[in-house]
Amino acid sequence: MNNLKANLQNIRARVAKACEKAGRDPAEVMVLAASKMHTPARIRELHALGQRSFGENYIQEALAKQAQLGALDIEWHFIGPLQSNKTREAAEHFAWVQSVDRAKIARRLAEQRPPELPPLELCIQVNIDREPQKAGVLPEQAGELARFVQDLPNIRLRGLMAIPRMGSEEYDPSDSYRRVRELFLQIRDAGIPMDTLSMGMSADLEQAILQGSTLVRIGTDLLGPRPDDDSAE
Ligand SMILES: *Cc1c(COP(=O)(O)O)cnc(C)c1O
Repeated sequence: MNNLKANLQNIRARVAKACEKAGRDPAEVMVLAASKMHTPARIRELHALGQRSFGENYIQEALAKQAQLGALDIEWHFIGPLQSNKTREAAEHFAWVQSVDRAKIARRLAEQRPPELPPLELCIQVNIDREPQKAGVLPEQAGELARFVQDLPNIRLRGLMAIPRMGSEEYDPSDSYRRVRELFLQIRDAGIPMDTLSMGMSADLEQAILQGSTLVRIGTDLLGPRPDDDSAE
């Protein structure tokens, strides 16, 4: 599927249908285009169709694209693993960073966010299925990190992001997503305001929305297969 217009309509229809099933307002669910490895031309095309939020996973790749697309009103999200030697670029060139999983990274982002920009919108990535190779803070440590982030200057804590375990057969992330939501509510009940649950991708946005997602990150079903896909999680 390389017809961007049809893809976008299809994703919007899937979101609307899932929201209807969940008894939710589709306006509560943001669609982020996960554009890693797709060309600036492709991003430009999707932008022309009305898509405004794009997510990138690699700083160098993202900066190169941003340089070419600088004139467009794109809201850039960083959704990939963030090393501490790349926090400055993230703090200077993105509206959101969704993949913060340790205090050191959050502190550097706060220090490096240019004060003339709006606060950096930040999500804590949770390793909800405790996978050894996966990024993200363990669920029981998320609350402490949220409290730390909440007190930082130049940062606005928005919520949690998670990528569930990819099972081989009968993939059903519903239980993982339910646990992310429970954690989210638990942290909020402890007095830390958050409004964003970033969960759901091409294969499972319906299950994620049923479990309360407010932000789905869609790559393949929006932009087509990634040209050189060797980094899928
Ligand atoms: C690539 C990516 C996505 C999108 O995945 P698809 O299955 O292609 O929709 C979502 N979230 C993150 C963090 C990603 O890296």
